Parts: sequence; structure tokens; C-alpha cells
Amino acid sequence: MVDNAVPSAGDRPVPAAARERWRRSIPTTTAGRGCECGACPSIDLVDERARTSKGGRSVVLSAEHPKASVLLFIDADRLSYLELAPHGDEAIDHFPSVAELSV
Ligand SMILES: [Zn+2]
Repeated sequence: MVDNAVPSAGDRPVPAAARERWRRSIPTTTAGRGCECGACPSIDLVDERARTSKGGRSVVLSAEHPKASVLLFIDADRLSYLELAPHGDEAIDHFPSVAELSV
């Protein structure tokens, strides 16, 4: 997602240097609290002190699965949330594999 997912049409392109910073933060980023709906796999992404980044300029990168979009939120220059947004009513309780995603 950090390397290949794309901003929404109309959003500013993401500089390669930003992707590099986010890639370097991955080893200290872990899964935090899951979505309150209990039916989807969306999760907070937290840093080594279990803090979620909020505020600051948000960047949203997306990739597509035939049945859902995967959205990676970056807030204040930190990975903050990974969301699975199903296209239909069908509940999907896991993230698709990278091989199933396209941009
Ligand atoms: Zn949910």
C-alpha cells in the first residue's frame, strides 16, 4: 500500500520521498484497535508507544479489489488507519492479499 497505492483522483500526487518516510516507519507501526463494527478488518495503526496519529494533513491512498477498496490513511505524516470498504452489502472480514489488489 505504501509503495503502490494511489491518492484519489484530484488529490495531490504523493512524492517518492514521502513514500520512503512512510516505508521507514513500517517496522515501528503495529495494529491497534479494530473497527467498532466488529464485522470488518479495518484497524488503527499505532506507533511504538501505541499512539494513533490524528490530525495534520491527511493523505489517503487506495487500492482496489473486485469487491472492496483498501484505504491507507496517513495523518501528520504517520500511517494511521487501514480500512476495508466493501463495494456491496457482502461483509468481508479480512484484508485481501496484495496479489488481489490493483491500482
Ligand atoms: Zn468496520
